Amino acid sequence: MRTLGLLGGMSWESTLVYYRALNQGVARRLGGLHSEPLLLHSFDFAPLAVLQEQGSWNTAAERLLDAARGLGAAGAEGLLIASNTMHKLAPALEAGLPLLHIGDAVGAAVAGAGLRRVGLLGTRFTMEQDFLRTHLVRRHGVELLMPEADDRETVHRVIYGELCRGIVREASRDEYLAVIGRLIDRGAEGIVLGCTEIGLLLDADALAVPGFDSTLLHVRQALDWMLTPATPATPATPATPATPAHGAVR
Ligand code: GLU
Repeated sequence: MRTLGLLGGMSWESTLVYYRALNQGVARRLGGLHSEPLLLHSFDFAPLAVLQEQGSWNTAAERLLDAARGLGAAGAEGLLIASNTMHKLAPALEAGLPLLHIGDAVGAAVAGAGLRRVGLLGTRFTMEQDFLRTHLVRRHGVELLMPEADDRETVHRVIYGELCRGIVREASRDEYLAVIGRLIDRGAEGIVLGCTEIGLLLDADALAVPGFDSTLLHVRQALDWMLTPATPATPATPATPATPAHGAVR
């Protein structure tokens, strides 16, 4: 197995999901006492969230790049950023490690499911900026529908105000389902849970249309890469799952 470097803590609530799912995936695939060889750099999220709000992305990129270099020096062979939003910084993370891009994990799954047009839920940054959107559109031919402005505000508020703090409320689940319903009314054939905490609130496999949980798909992409000794992934052509489906990790 190759050793994975994980940039986590953004938030730790979802990093915990990564950690568990990666280990469960290795155990499922290899059996016995096997578990994930993993190096984790877990950030204090508060100062990073301030940098996001201020738009100080260059400073945030320096922090992540330092951490990625540290993981590489410690023996990581590939890099995972456990946040959709922080993939905004992916182009700046030239740490000499292949980056397994979350957009490739999600894009391959959507395309593999034969869907063209899907709705995207995520932070305001992910929904309103181009970094994930263009990646999905250009590399995987996925057409994306964004929630309307009020709905984007709701989705963003619940992520930072609740999910990143471990708060899971029934009322917020209902709000999300209403947002998803409006996306489906506008023509969404599937829904991307494009924030690594949304799986705490919603089961991607229990939506009215196919759901794509970015966290679980990213984990599966990482498992495929770790357990494939052949050609290493490169930043230009990261490893992607061959037969993507929805949220389940296999
Ligand atoms: N983990 C989240 C994401 O996937 C949001 C928190 C962050 O900004 O990193 O976008």
